Amino acid sequence: MRVGPSQDEIRRQNLGALLRYVHVHGATTRAELTTALGLNRSTIGALTADLAAAGLVTEGAPKETGRAGRPSLVVRPESDRVFAYAYSIEVDRLRAARVGLGGAVIDRRELDRPRGLTAAEAAPLLAGAVKEMRQALPEDALCVGAGVAVCGMVRRDDGLVRLGPTTGWVDEPIGTALGTELGVDVPVTVGNVADVAAFAEHARGAAAGCDNVIYLYGDVGVGAGIIAAGRRLTGHGGYSGEVGHMVVVRDGARCECGNRGCWETEIGEHGLLRAAGRSDARGREAMLAVFDAADRGDARAQIAVRQAGDWLGFGVANLVNIFNPEMVIFGGTMRDLYLAAAAQVRSRLNSNGLPACLEHVRLRTPKLGEDAPLVGAAELAFDRLLADPLDVS
Ligand SMILES: [Zn+2]
Repeated sequence: MRVGPSQDEIRRQNLGALLRYVHVHGATTRAELTTALGLNRSTIGALTADLAAAGLVTEGAPKETGRAGRPSLVVRPESDRVFAYAYSIEVDRLRAARVGLGGAVIDRRELDRPRGLTAAEAAPLLAGAVKEMRQALPEDALCVGAGVAVCGMVRRDDGLVRLGPTTGWVDEPIGTALGTELGVDVPVTVGNVADVAAFAEHARGAAAGCDNVIYLYGDVGVGAGIIAAGRRLTGHGGYSGEVGHMVVVRDGARCECGNRGCWETEIGEHGLLRAAGRSDARGREAMLAVFDAADRGDARAQIAVRQAGDWLGFGVANLVNIFNPEMVIFGGTMRDLYLAAAAQVRSRLNSNGLPACLEHVRLRTPKLGEDAPLVGAAELAFDRLLADPLDVS
């Protein structure tokens, strides 16, 4: 006979739900928690007391409301004390941050990344940045885990980077390498940068409250983080969302994945620079220089930007027809391309998108900006804590 959840399981679920609410929404009154979680006042009081005893939240008087009557106590996440380390391994830079419970980036370091750097070389650099940040930690600080956003295909089970076409990584165990370098007894969770950024924008950014979202992230290549029915779409092994490798031109330009005519060969770094007659240049700055030149009237740059914008709209129309998202977010260099060629993107989307799928789709830039990969990497680490707060703390 199957029995329902035990009292203890229900309590743990409720603790997780309450902590998740204040993690996402910040300081919240007990009255609001009662309504939002559908629990009675005494249960909210008991759960808050348990979380406060574990050092995960504090409770205090609200700021003056001006309203009559006894004010409801406010529950706040312990953002200074409870934190996760977040790393973002990008094509041209490495970033490390300490992100507090509640999602604020408290401390950060950034390093240039020479193209061709291996995981074994990147890990000690990131660990060095963390050692610096550790010096500023409060004495009773609690690290609940570490998350990594990396541009590449990441195996969900163990965070092995199977392929990073733009970094040259093949089967690089970055999570293990970082765990060893850090020498801390916390789990390291690895995710693809587009998936991780989508997670962050969905949790607390432009897509908060949206259940069907596509986040397109570009650097040299292009990938998508896809949220469907409120859940991250990861695929069987964790490799879904490699939209940059949709083949759009038969026998087109050579892609770094080894194929020809992939979408990113038209909208990524190489495609834009090739079209602008600047094949020798590379990097984000070189792409920005093309947008800038187009803005100042350089005819060749304008053609390149319009062409790439048209290709961007072409692929987005296909994605919109397949996934029926309510929002498409353009991050990384896709943000710059979208802003430089919004008219072409919209025009192509309107011609190729199915009317029913276009009805409610909104095009947006990230609210969290360049912090999305870091905030999302931290969310990967916080997920364990939020699933069972007392077990982790
Ligand atoms: Zn490809």
